[in-house]
Amino acid sequence: MHTSTSVRLSLPTANCQLQPRFRRLRLLIRGGLLGSPWRLRRGLPLLLLLSLGQGQAQTERGGQPHEQLDAVLWVQHSAEYQAAALQAYNQARVSLDAALADTTWTAALEQSGPFGQLPPAVILDVDETALDNSPHQGRLILGDTVFNWTAWDQWVKEELAEQVPGALQFCQYAAHQGVTVFYVTNRRDHLREATRNNLRKMGFPLADDRETLFTRGDDSAKGPRRAAIAKQFRILLLLGDNTADFAPGFRGAGIDERAALAEQYADWWGRRWIMLPNPMYGSWEEALPGFDYSQSRSERVQAKRRALQD
Ligand SMILES: [Mg+2]
Repeated sequence: MHTSTSVRLSLPTANCQLQPRFRRLRLLIRGGLLGSPWRLRRGLPLLLLLSLGQGQAQTERGGQPHEQLDAVLWVQHSAEYQAAALQAYNQARVSLDAALADTTWTAALEQSGPFGQLPPAVILDVDETALDNSPHQGRLILGDTVFNWTAWDQWVKEELAEQVPGALQFCQYAAHQGVTVFYVTNRRDHLREATRNNLRKMGFPLADDRETLFTRGDDSAKGPRRAAIAKQFRILLLLGDNTADFAPGFRGAGIDERAALAEQYADWWGRRWIMLPNPMYGSWEEALPGFDYSQSRSERVQAKRRALQD
């Protein structure tokens, strides 16, 4: 999840001219823009806000498009995103079967000692790996604002996130194979129960006899939490949307170092480590300005433009 600096939320309000805007929403639905039932469910809240807040989002920064517009639309409306996520989870299932049959297999750099006889487990990140938060990102665009903790907490407490395509079926398959599914997330501890409720509502397996949801605690590093799980389980797979979900070396690493590490583990991607696509946010974006969170929004955009290769 995000670590960006706090900016005041400015969500659009529904205080005028509802009727024409609802008509436009009905037309969008009738016209098929919302597509399949899967997209209809996830698209309704966003399009409702779009319908209500269009004018505000276009005017607050002189009509400039929001820097995340295409990224969020790609997640919400492209078959390419859907296919990429399904592809990742299909590969995860193939790897899970291979890992179950090979007691020398582990996906965790933190795993040590004689682990061959330990019960099997997989570790998933939550945001943009198990749960799709693109409606929250859509709200930020419609409010012409950027990540802030108030809006994030509100979204999580609504418990409305749906699954990333393929995630639910994979987790249910793993659980059916006797594999314990752990969720290691950097959501804050006060959001643990809302996160658990959201996962449970979607049908994700949650063990009754032990805690399988690990929130941030006082350390955003996931390595210690993986190490704690690895003491009792053989970790078959790691699944995430951020390099920090896989190896500790990625935390705080610059752009070039990240690329070198990705290459160093070239044989692990798609085998032990399953990467989900997330063009909306992540460590990659924070690494561009050197993890400088003091920059203003416009300064960050300028830094991104300077980073472009032509
Ligand atoms: Mg994530």
